[in-house]
Amino acid sequence: MPVPFADLQLQYQTIKSEIDGAIASVIRDNAFIRGSYVDAFEREFAAAVDVKHCVSCANGTDALYLAMAALKVKPGDEVITTAHSWISTSAMITHAGATVVFCDTDGSTFTINPAAIEAAITPRTVGIIPVHLYGQPADMDAIMTISSKYKLWVIEDCAQAHLARYKGQQVGTFGAAATYSFYPGKNLGAMGDAGAVVTNDAALAEHMTMLARHGGLVKHQHHIEGINSRLDGMQAAILSAKLPHLAQWTKARQDAAKAYDAGLNQVEDVIVPQVAPDRAHVYHLYTIKHPRRDALAAHLNANGVQTAINYPTALPFLAAYARLGHCPEQFPNAFGDQGQILSLPMFAEITPDQQRMVIDLVCQFD
Ligand SMILES: *Cc1c(COP(=O)(O)O)cnc(C)c1O
Repeated sequence: MPVPFADLQLQYQTIKSEIDGAIASVIRDNAFIRGSYVDAFEREFAAAVDVKHCVSCANGTDALYLAMAALKVKPGDEVITTAHSWISTSAMITHAGATVVFCDTDGSTFTINPAAIEAAITPRTVGIIPVHLYGQPADMDAIMTISSKYKLWVIEDCAQAHLARYKGQQVGTFGAAATYSFYPGKNLGAMGDAGAVVTNDAALAEHMTMLARHGGLVKHQHHIEGINSRLDGMQAAILSAKLPHLAQWTKARQDAAKAYDAGLNQVEDVIVPQVAPDRAHVYHLYTIKHPRRDALAAHLNANGVQTAINYPTALPFLAAYARLGHCPEQFPNAFGDQGQILSLPMFAEITPDQQRMVIDLVCQFD
């Protein structure tokens, strides 16, 4: 039996009646756009991640744009982010009108190196976007210290880190705002695109809501020029049906990670995910490092185990950033990792037998 990288169908089967019921209710109530299902999910999600306000939107990419636009990012501003992420993080800095400044990762957690942030600050720097990559919180104490020292805002990209904690505190509660994606494969996933931006600042929440709804809170009253970015009722109802299961799914991912750690941490050439003290990793991805990554991936794939590379090219080296003229020496960790990282199958329903098969295949590889 092959081991899939993730299995969304299996998750659906475990809660089929709840999902089907949620979809049927939205159809019955004609609540396709806005309305009670969207309002309810915003309230429930805010409570689940310990924030006061949740502004839903179309996807996690828009969420980043909305947060930066509400923080009034303007041309000439510089925003610092990590060299190792999905392109949404950096692309939205550009689309919000600012200049992207990349920093290297710390060499062990795949998250941004606070020392590199401090070295990258200029008089034009306005904010920092740490990414809690793969589900592990970035070093928020160090980042918040830098943010108050230099008066910079922080937007946490929590797209891969629902319910992750740093020193007991939920991610997404440290900065001015935090963004979430509910892309189907994320730890909390819709059945289509969905996202949200959260904050404890009521004025910021209202501004982001306006920006996401054509610049107004009341129909035909447009106070500013916004965009159209909405969570639809169907996705909201599906997310509300899934949210009560998220804590248990997260625990299952953490248990699966422990089983991988135990099976792989003695294997020569394999580096299992390094979790810094006081960080609760939620394992959106379980990503190992191996010096012969491509051969290992080929071996696993040939034997029925699906893998992924997140991501094959670090952001500064993508064609989209050729204009910045970056070289590998500027980002030695992100550059070194791009050829070695390999994400193994990880989902809440993965079985011990499936994990055993993955571990055995990695052990047999030489
Ligand atoms: C998934 C993801 C996003 C974007 O979310 P979408 O909903 O796909 O737009 C942003 N940042 C990171 C780190 C992500 O993993």
